Amino acid sequence: EPGLYVTATPIGNLADITYRAVEILKKADLILCEDTRQTAKLCAAYGVDTHRAPYHDHNAARVRPEIIKKLQDGAVICLVSDAGTPLISDPGYKLVRDAREAGVAVFPLPGPSAAIAALSAAGAPSDQFLFAGFLPAKQGARGKALEKIAHVDATLIFYETAPRLGDALSAMKAVLGDRKAVVARELTKLHEEFRTGTLSELAGVYDAAQPKGEIVIIVFPPEEKAADASDIDAFLKAALD
Ligand code: SAM
Repeated sequence: EPGLYVTATPIGNLADITYRAVEILKKADLILCEDTRQTAKLCAAYGVDTHRAPYHDHNAARVRPEIIKKLQDGAVICLVSDAGTPLISDPGYKLVRDAREAGVAVFPLPGPSAAIAALSAAGAPSDQFLFAGFLPAKQGARGKALEKIAHVDATLIFYETAPRLGDALSAMKAVLGDRKAVVARELTKLHEEFRTGTLSELAGVYDAAQPKGEIVIIVFPPEEKAADASDIDAFLKAALD
C-alpha cells in the first residue's frame, strides 16, 4: 500500500529488526535515511537494494515538498534514522506532519527505541514515565529544563552523550534531589551495562572515569513522602465525616 512507512531499525544488535520492516524496505520505492552510509550497512546485511536518499536536518525543509509530491503520486517510502525509531530525538516529525496534512497514509513499523529498551530492563517504575530526550548542553538551560520536570510524579528518561554524562548526573542531583537512577549504556551491544545508584553515586563513578558509548539515563520518580499515608487517612476521614 502506498504511503510513508516510519521504520524502526536496530540500536546496536543488527538482528533487532522486524520481518515486516525488512520486507517493506525491500519493496519500497525509496528509503529516506538520516545518513545513507549508516543505512547502507543495514541494507547490505539484509539484501535490500532499494534506492536511498538523505533526509536530515540540513536538507529536510528543501526536500520535503518533493517527497510529499512523490507520496501523493503513490510512492512507497520508508523513513529510517541511524538507529532506533525515527522522530524519537531524530528527524522526521515535520515530514510525518506534512504527509498527514496532505492526506497521505503514514504507517508505523514499530521496533527498537533506546528509551523503551532501557526502561524495560532498568527496574524503575514503568507505569508512568516522561521521555525528556536530550537535555540542553549549556548549564543554565539544562538547569531550567530540569526544573520544569522536577515535580513530575513519574520515571524520567533522558538521552545523553558520554562526555556529558557526569555533568548531567550532577545537574540532575542538584535540581531533582538525590534520587535513585539507572545508567543504561550500549544497549543490545557487546558492552551493554546497567548501573544503578543514587544520582550522586553515579555522578561519582562517571566523573572518575568517563564512559564510552551511547547512554540512556533513567531517574526514579520523587520519593513518596512518609506523610502521604496519613494524608490519605485524613482524606478518607474527611470524606466519611
Ligand atoms: N531514535 C533513536 C531511538 O529510538 O532510540 C534515538 C536517536 S538519538 C539521536 C541517539 C541517542 O539515543 C544516544 O545519544 C543515546 O542517548 C540513545 N541511544 C541510542 N542507541 C543506544 C544504545 N544502543 N544504548 C544506549 N543508548 C542509546
